[in-house]
Amino acid sequence: MLHEKSAGAVVFYCEGNSIEYLLLLYEAGHWDFPKGNIEEGEEIVETVRREIFEETGIKNITFVPGFKHEIRYFYKKMGDIVNKKVIFYLVRSHEKNVTLSSEHKDYMWLDYENALKKLTYKTAKETLTKAHNFLISIGRCP
Ligand code: ATP
Repeated sequence: MLHEKSAGAVVFYCEGNSIEYLLLLYEAGHWDFPKGNIEEGEEIVETVRREIFEETGIKNITFVPGFKHEIRYFYKKMGDIVNKKVIFYLVRSHEKNVTLSSEHKDYMWLDYENALKKLTYKTAKETLTKAHNFLISIGRCP
């Protein structure tokens, strides 16, 4: 079995007091959050910052302290089973303009209900719900 470890973020933008979440359409066809492999010697938050920038062009971000959520899933890669772990942080974007890389086909800023519908996988939906509830608990747009 292969093992992979990635890191990513639930990226949100505050429009007044309403929150919009950034979702990406992966080449494989699923809607998910920005994320990517943790490189050798890289701190996890550096991975998150780098991946957000590479995948969306967004640079002006702030990490929301106190939020971290880990998911696990299995998938098949050329006949091998991959056991994948992804650690998600919660990141506020201060810009809305997105420049996609070739890794993704589309993006959307969506409110909580629509983002929940759009996300493909149960673990991603659970991550969003946890992130949204966390934001509500600290007064929405910190
Ligand atoms: P990364 O963004 O970490 O570099 P990647 O783009 O190489 O990853 P994944 O997004 O992990 O790849 O997708 C690999 C496979 O796993 C795809 O077939 C995808 O449909 C599936 N997959 C992605 N996320 C999940 C999930 N949360 N639960 C189950 N399967 C998933």
